[in-house]
Amino acid sequence: MKVLVTGGAGFIGSHIVHWLRRAGYEVVTADNLQTGKRANLPADVPLYELDIRDQAGLADLFAAERPQAVVHQAALANVRESMEDPITYAEVNIIGTLHLLELVKDYNCTKFIFASTGGAVYGEGSFPNRKAVEGDEEGRPSPGSPSLPFTEDSRPQPKDNYGANKLSCEHYIELYNQNYDLPYVILRYANVYGPRQDANGEAGVVAIFTGAMLSDQATHITGDGGQQRDFVYVDDVARANILALNSELSGTYNVGTGFPTDINTLYRQLADLTGYGRTPSRLPRPAGEVRATWLNCSKAGQELGWEAEIDLSEGLRRTVEWARTAAVTA
Ligand code: NAD
Repeated sequence: MKVLVTGGAGFIGSHIVHWLRRAGYEVVTADNLQTGKRANLPADVPLYELDIRDQAGLADLFAAERPQAVVHQAALANVRESMEDPITYAEVNIIGTLHLLELVKDYNCTKFIFASTGGAVYGEGSFPNRKAVEGDEEGRPSPGSPSLPFTEDSRPQPKDNYGANKLSCEHYIELYNQNYDLPYVILRYANVYGPRQDANGEAGVVAIFTGAMLSDQATHITGDGGQQRDFVYVDDVARANILALNSELSGTYNVGTGFPTDINTLYRQLADLTGYGRTPSRLPRPAGEVRATWLNCSKAGQELGWEAEIDLSEGLRRTVEWARTAAVTA
């Protein structure tokens, strides 16, 4: 089967490409290299250097390659930027996805896999354990928020344009499924980390800390560092995409570890792994930042046979090892 991976030169996309090839798929990629890099891909993987806003360019790609499935990773994924430039974000993330859906429909593709975001689609959750936010008036979620961890049935309440973009795409994908029988899998990723991550991405905190610590630069923690996130290793995410592609089912699945980690804990683990001894400075907590998010992933376990296999300490060890090598060869 020939699979088109959009955003294939990016962090997660390039890992998916490697996993697809290992599983025997033929792969072509489309990426405008805005944040992706050609060097992230093996030399023999075709890369169409085009923007998903370019409808005619995508149509030419489909006519030439006739992919049977699409794994759609290309997106602008910076929450802060999405608030500053909502139009460009909607054009890339929503209109770009619609261009692909139209082609997937016209070419009768057998599967559309979509990278959504558990971090931004659900918004703020409430804590099952009040102690987790004791003393944190500022970060206390509003009453009525769904309780953590989020399940696929939790009511989505995006707090930023990026989350709204992704949720809007999810609705379109479900409509294409209802109206044109398009088989799909929506994967709502938690905070993904691992080798090749750029420090500017949605979950760049691991990359940011690792880069600064290895080069002995100053580090900063925003707020009190008690913010909780679900950090999932990129290989686990790539494997979820392969299982989604092989599955007969259409549906929406959380892809995370099911466990929260606070930023202070993450910081300490990375400082130990890198031998970093400096004290972080404290910056104000960004307005509107979600206090805590983590995902219940049992649906992916039951229906896709997927669960995260790489725990945080092993994932961070692999990430730091990769970053040390990348720093030497850069
Ligand atoms: P990334 O920036 O490394 O990858 C995105 C890729 O899309 C890049 O290669 C970029 O060049 C490409 N791209 C951007 N705009 C494009 C355009 N207009 N046309 C063509 N290509 C374009 O980021 P990533 O972390 O690998 O994210 C991959 C996907 O996963 C995104 O859809 C993102 O929203 C989603 N996601 C990521 C995380 C995370 O923690 N990293 C969490 C949830 C969801």
